[in-house]
Amino acid sequence: MVQAESVCKNFGALQVLRGISLEVQHGEVACLIGPSGSGKSTFLRCVNHLEKVNAGRLRVDGELIGYRERAGKLYELSPRDAARQRRDIGMVFQHFNLFPHRTVLANVIEAPVLVKGKSRDEATVHALDLLDKVGLAAKADAYPAQLSGGQQQRVAIARALAMEPKLMLFDEPTSALDPELVGDVLAVMRDLAQAGMTMLVVTHEMGFAREVADQLVFMADGVVVERGNPRAMLEDPQHERTKTFLSKLL
Ligand code: ADP
Ligand code: MG
Repeated sequence: MVQAESVCKNFGALQVLRGISLEVQHGEVACLIGPSGSGKSTFLRCVNHLEKVNAGRLRVDGELIGYRERAGKLYELSPRDAARQRRDIGMVFQHFNLFPHRTVLANVIEAPVLVKGKSRDEATVHALDLLDKVGLAAKADAYPAQLSGGQQQRVAIARALAMEPKLMLFDEPTSALDPELVGDVLAVMRDLAQAGMTMLVVTHEMGFAREVADQLVFMADGVVVERGNPRAMLEDPQHERTKTFLSKLL
């Protein structure tokens, strides 16, 4: 579902991604870990068209992201084609970014109605089902400010799912939450994983990585240092940098 081959991204002279290579299979959950500044968010942003890669190939479901390749040359996708690719990818951020002046339900149906052209009725039925799945059916008419951070994050997940994405990206979805609210959000993510969603998750919740992820990816300085089975990697990391990082984390 995700295939990165030597993906590079720089901001001016700063080389942030220096040849990221990884694969995430259909239905797999991959957790991405690594020191702050190692390029985890930038990588997710490249997958979701928020940044453009400078070199290498990034594919989602077999399609090159942001570019079209013809006779070995890359051409930028039209905004329309890029938008079509983006529609299939859901993203959840550390800060939930809900529209504060709209109800929970209005937040969830916005994109399906505006971007996908669904009828309000159809979008509402789907949204209420999703809100039920994240445990917030009773909050459909509440405003974001009336919810806890964990509830807002679960709304953000429902909002992303409302677009029926084939891939979900999570960028430290629980790091802004009070500790007692983290579990509910992780439980929703676990359910989603069990339902077969392909997920790429930046998180330092090692319990989640161990129990839910099929793959753990350790990034440092813009490269993938090590990736593999989470349990095996946590118990017996192969690289010195991974060892050092994990020992600080656990
Ligand atoms: P991580 O998520 O692993 O903490 P990031 O991907 O956010 O790392 O950042 C990696 C590096 O790229 C950092 O040094 C950061 O300052 C830099 N960076 C990220 N976005 C930009 C940007 N838009 N312009 C310039 N530098 C950026
Ligand atoms: Mg980050």
